[in-house]
Amino acid sequence: MEEAKHFVGGEWITPSSRETIDVVNPSTGQVFTRIARGNAADIDAAVSCARAAFEGPWGLLSAAEKGRLLYRLSALVTTHRDELAELEARDTGKPLREACADAAALARYFEFYAGAADKLHGETLPYQNGYTVLTVREPHGVTGHIVPWNYPMQIFGRSIAASLAAGNACVVKPAEDACLSVLRMASLAAEAGLPAGTLNVVTGYGDEAGAALARHPGVDHISFTGSPGTGALVAQMAAEHYAPVTLELGGKSPQIVFADADLDAAMPTLMSAILQNAGQTCSAGSRVLIERAIYAPLVDRLACAFDALRAGPGQTEADCGPLINAKQQQRVAEFVALARRDGIRVAGQGSILSGAHPSGFYQPPTLLADVPRTHRIAREEIFGPVLAAMPFEDEADAVALANSTPYGLVAGIWTRDGARQFRLARSIRAGQVFINNYGAGGGVELPFGGTGHSGFGREKGLEALHGFTTLKTIAIRHG
Ligand code: NAD
Repeated sequence: MEEAKHFVGGEWITPSSRETIDVVNPSTGQVFTRIARGNAADIDAAVSCARAAFEGPWGLLSAAEKGRLLYRLSALVTTHRDELAELEARDTGKPLREACADAAALARYFEFYAGAADKLHGETLPYQNGYTVLTVREPHGVTGHIVPWNYPMQIFGRSIAASLAAGNACVVKPAEDACLSVLRMASLAAEAGLPAGTLNVVTGYGDEAGAALARHPGVDHISFTGSPGTGALVAQMAAEHYAPVTLELGGKSPQIVFADADLDAAMPTLMSAILQNAGQTCSAGSRVLIERAIYAPLVDRLACAFDALRAGPGQTEADCGPLINAKQQQRVAEFVALARRDGIRVAGQGSILSGAHPSGFYQPPTLLADVPRTHRIAREEIFGPVLAAMPFEDEADAVALANSTPYGLVAGIWTRDGARQFRLARSIRAGQVFINNYGAGGGVELPFGGTGHSGFGREKGLEALHGFTTLKTIAIRHG
């Protein structure tokens, strides 16, 4: 991996602009390295190399051979797990234990999709006498991947491993705020033996390199993870050249707690679902909806837990790390200030570890209680360690409240009543519903994605392979 270069066609290349972008450590606010500032010319070079790999050495490999290379890459990730985790913790500010878990997930994505590469098949269809009709799943060709800063390794793994397993060649534009692990993955992919041009990484700003990728007519599919506003822009740009798009966007996901729930089991999950990655998680459980009968005691319990939390530097074991940059920290602080101004109760609030760098982007974890249902705090994604607590009256009210935002990504339901578990699971608008858990450990096997402002299309699981392929129907008339 070379500083301030793109990885294109199997080589580290200088950006055509010769310009760089400073990379800041969120734990200290200090610049610690530089990345290349990519532009349309760099993207164009990467797309050409990807096309050549797709039509050449990568495309000519059998599915089993592709799978073997992806296995090799998975093994290399495991070998380099500590190095990748440290890189990610410094780059994003997340605690080292979370970055280690992300590195393990990255290895698992490549392992899972390596095994799937030679099991992706079509069907034969009953049709008129004298015909045999079959379907085959074919790769799109060149896929473009726009990756955000919150989980660079995980999102790289889920999107690129699936696309490669489906037979595509990839061009990746990671986020300008955190892309070092993705660059490291480019060199590991080369070491694993992926032919030059199969995986290309161009760094840079979204409205330059990102937009150039979304607009490029040589890109056959775009996978975007990020904010709803940018997702809509990317979809428009892709539509100009008729490229299909997968959008993984934000959320305002509810955890719904009924009075009959096992609260001892729920408590740690209610906390971790909002604290993980300092709340900068699309699937964060950022609303806790509590049945009226247990609302006051559960809010008190959560408040005590919040008061004890400490935000501290990444690469340590603080309860949560800093936010990614000054802008994000200011945005979250403004939401908390808005809550105070509008009389919303700050029921619990953690603090910042003494000794944390004064220029780090720390934000104390905050529990806001009795949040009015129509308030922005109840409806908008904050993307920080801020949990909104709201009471509900009965099952119908819980469903109405859960479905009252424009998002629909994930929901958690805590109840011992089996019939209610199913009723709610079916009535809530979300791509994933968890009963008496939240996230189920993040399983790569479980299709993930949203509805409404949370986006469309599914990644993870075998389902992702459908998105990264196109279906061809072949009808043979043989009499
Ligand atoms: P963002 O949309 O600003 O950036 C995401 C990526 O898009 C970055 O690589 C960025 O450089 C690029 N980008 C920005 N402008 C672009 C443009 N005009 N054209 C093409 N690419 C462009 O979002 P963010 O600030 O990185 O992430 C925060 C948001 O992303 C939150 O809303 C969060 O919920 C969402 N998110 C969703 C998921 C998910 O899986 N659903 C995962 C992570 C983040």
